[in-house]
Amino acid sequence: MNTTANPTIESEKVTCKGCEKEFLIIQAEKAFYKKKGLPNPELCPDCRRQRRLSLRNERKLFKRTCDKCRKEIISTYRAESPFVIYCQECFWKHLG
Ligand SMILES: [Zn+2]
Ligand SMILES: [Zn+2]
Repeated sequence: MNTTANPTIESEKVTCKGCEKEFLIIQAEKAFYKKKGLPNPELCPDCRRQRRLSLRNERKLFKRTCDKCRKEIISTYRAESPFVIYCQECFWKHLG
């Protein structure tokens, strides 16, 4: 006797908004989101994991230029951030 439902039958095929890969949302998952009043996920499990990681990882590094000497540096601030960013050299000179 096999009472286990085939999960693919009750699953919904969704196209991921991140990588455009198709993934399945199984019935149990849908029921879970419905119970929580949440919409079905729009990202595949891979992209969701990646997004979670990037949200947790606040020490993300960006390439930008020193606002003083225009040397290329790696900063934790985005290039479009409003902060004035100096390279280490200029930073110490600025302090001194
Ligand atoms: Zn994806
Ligand atoms: Zn500099």
